[in-house]
Formats: sequence, C-alpha cells, structure tokens
Amino acid sequence: MKIHEYQAKEILRRFGVPVPRGEPAFSVAEAVDAARRLGGPVWVVKAQIHAGGRGKGGGVRLARSLEEVRAHAQDMLGMRLVTHQTGAHGQTVRRLLIEEGADIRKELYAGLVLDRSAQKICLMASSEGGVEIEEVAAHAPEKIHRVLIDPVGGLTDAQAESLARHIGVPDASLGAARQALQGLSRAYWECDATLAEVNPLVLTGDGGIVALDAKFNFDANALYRHPELVALRDMDEEDPAEIEASKFDLSYIQLDGNIGCLVNGAGLAMATMDTIKLYGGTPANFLDVGGGATVEKVTEAFKLMLHNPDCKAILVNIFGGIMKCDTIAEGVIAASRAVRLAVPLVVRMKGTNEELGRRMLAESGLPIISADTMAEAAQRVVAAVSGAAGAAALAGGRA
Ligand code: ADP
Ligand code: MG
Repeated sequence: MKIHEYQAKEILRRFGVPVPRGEPAFSVAEAVDAARRLGGPVWVVKAQIHAGGRGKGGGVRLARSLEEVRAHAQDMLGMRLVTHQTGAHGQTVRRLLIEEGADIRKELYAGLVLDRSAQKICLMASSEGGVEIEEVAAHAPEKIHRVLIDPVGGLTDAQAESLARHIGVPDASLGAARQALQGLSRAYWECDATLAEVNPLVLTGDGGIVALDAKFNFDANALYRHPELVALRDMDEEDPAEIEASKFDLSYIQLDGNIGCLVNGAGLAMATMDTIKLYGGTPANFLDVGGGATVEKVTEAFKLMLHNPDCKAILVNIFGGIMKCDTIAEGVIAASRAVRLAVPLVVRMKGTNEELGRRMLAESGLPIISADTMAEAAQRVVAAVSGAAGAAALAGGRA
C-alpha cells in the first residue's frame, strides 16, 4: 500500500526526522488559507499523487505570494499529471501539499529496502539526490553507499555517521544527519514498510538536514496490525479493477496486453504469462484466483478481465489439486454464461477429475477451446487473438 507525501512526512515527523512545515489542501481556498497560516515569503505547491517525478511534470511549483499560491492551486487541482511513474494517462490531482520553501544547499538521497539475499534491511544513501536513483545506479553506481541494518540493534550511530560522511555531509551537520537516518530507519521498521525513500534529503543553508520529499510503501500482509496506516489509504489513487478484485479475494493486476489469464496460484500465473510471451502473445492481466475458487469467484474473475476493453481472449490454466477440475469446469461454464462470453476462451486443466472436467466443458455447448499442455494452451490463445487465420487453424482444436 502506498500513501501520499504529506502523510509520509507526518510519519517522519513522529520519528524525529525534520520535514518542512506544511499542510494538505483539497481546494484552492484551503491552499491559500494554508499558505497564509504558514507565512511566507516562499511556498511550494506540490501535487499529491502516488507517483514520483512530479517536479519534472509540473507538479511541484514555487510561489512567492499568496496570489501565486492561488494561481498554482487553481491550475494544479484537477489536472492530469503525467510523470515517468504514472503511465501515459497520468493521474488526476485531487490533493495538494502547501509547504514552506526550503533553503537548499545540497540535495542528497536516502532510501531503505529489504535486501533479500542478506536477509536484512538495507539503507542506501547518495550524494546525488533530487534525480532518479535508478539513473545514479546506472551511471555512477559508486555514488550509492549501502549499510545493512542489524534487526536487533537497529542503525548504529557509527553506521549512520559513516554513511553521512560518505555522501558529503559536513562535520557540523553529522549529528543532524545521524538523527534523520536513524529516524527514517525506525519508521521503516515500525511501520512494516517495504520501501521508505527520501529524495531529496537536503542539507539546508544553516546546516540542517530536512526531508523534502517522502515516500513509503507498506507490506500489505502486515496492515492488519496498522489500522492507523490503513486509514491513510486513498482509493482514488488505486486501480478500480484491483479494488474490485480485492473484495473477492482475487489477486488481479492489469497489464497492457490482450490475453486475459485466469490461473490458480501465483507461480503458475507467472509461468502462464511467460509461456504466452514465449509464443508471441502479451498478457492483459495477472489473475490468481487462489485455492478456493468458487463459481462466484470465477464469475467475478471473468467480469474483471472482460471489463478491460483490450482483453481479446481468455486463457484459463488450472492445476486441480485441492480444487477439483470438475468444480473449475462448473465455474467456467457458469461464468461464460453469466457474462455472455464473446471472446475466445482456451481452457487447460490438469489434476484431480481432469477427465470429468473436460467432458463437462465439451458437453456444455459453449465454444471452449481445450488444450492439454501449457504450450498448446498458449499457442492456441495466441492464435485466437491473431485473427481469422488463427481461428481457422483452431477449428480442429475445439473441445
Ligand atoms: P518529485 O520527486 O515527485 O519530483 P519532490 O518532492 O522531490 O517531487 O520535488 C522535486 C524537487 O522540487 C526537489 O528535488 C526540490 O529541488 C524541489 N522542492 C520540493 N519541495 C521543496 C520545498 N519545500 N522547498 C524547496 N524546494 C523544494
Ligand atoms: Mg522526489
């Protein structure tokens, strides 16, 4: 789960990481009021969307008067902000953060992620802040410094100070940098984050260290113990199809291809997507119906996939272990009827009651294309989306 910058900064503040004074605003009037309360002479009006790269896209603007704050707010609220992280459609701006302008001497970078091979949390820092860290990693990897954090002791004073020195923090500001890095690490740990990133972390004119941007991702499996974080969820920022899927306990992620995939198990889902790619197709989604796929769940899964106008064919690939193939066949038949399926459907089932399941599909009278192996299933669904030639070649393959 992601949150907005202003919410992330509130968390940082609680963990002792200095952030600029600022207030969220949902309307132009609120933006001007917030600026008035903060006091001038310089404000920054920042679009709040769950994506970075806002500065380059016109989502971070300097204002030198209340009139300028008003003009920027008017301009930005409701705009579709396109950044390298939003995709071409962009994201509608519904909230702003109005904050005091900082006196920036140097922009640095600090971020935490889990290092799976080390089985520890890794704190990365760089002297090259304010730019995409991926760029730094690609062109000047020696400028990224890392430390692994001991899960019991946390980030030590020595580690924090050494890292700060490596990224060019002057001696007089080492204490402030240590406090900020330790606060950030504690926030990551205590909030069950999967990512915490401050880009830029700035050294100010008077030697202070301030988080000018803040980003958190939280582990969805740990949210049950953080109701205060769940309360920060902003549904407007999430894909409506993915919200709908979560209601039915389906794992659904929309992709940009045209072959809908309905699979049980995340591993099989990924292997299925790979196989589709191998035969020249592109998946329209990742969809894991999980272990307990009922008729209702399969129907909802079909609806979700078909809601995407790009979905031109569906591949159902099921391993019937605990879930029996005849149950899946029943679900597929009911779902096809319920949604009046109009795109080609390829079904491949393996496992318990496989023969019975196949017979049910064949006897359903529905134009379902059966396949025995994963390769065959992928080839058939790829042929089905590639038009009439494919359809003719498939005539022999109908169940
Ligand atoms: P994004 O990463 O989405 O582009 P940031 O919050 O990092 O957004 O802002 C982009 C840039 O704008 C920063 O690198 C910094 O130079 C400037 N900036 C952001 N907030 C402030 C602020 N409060 N005062 C001064 N400059 C700021
Ligand atoms: Mg940033």
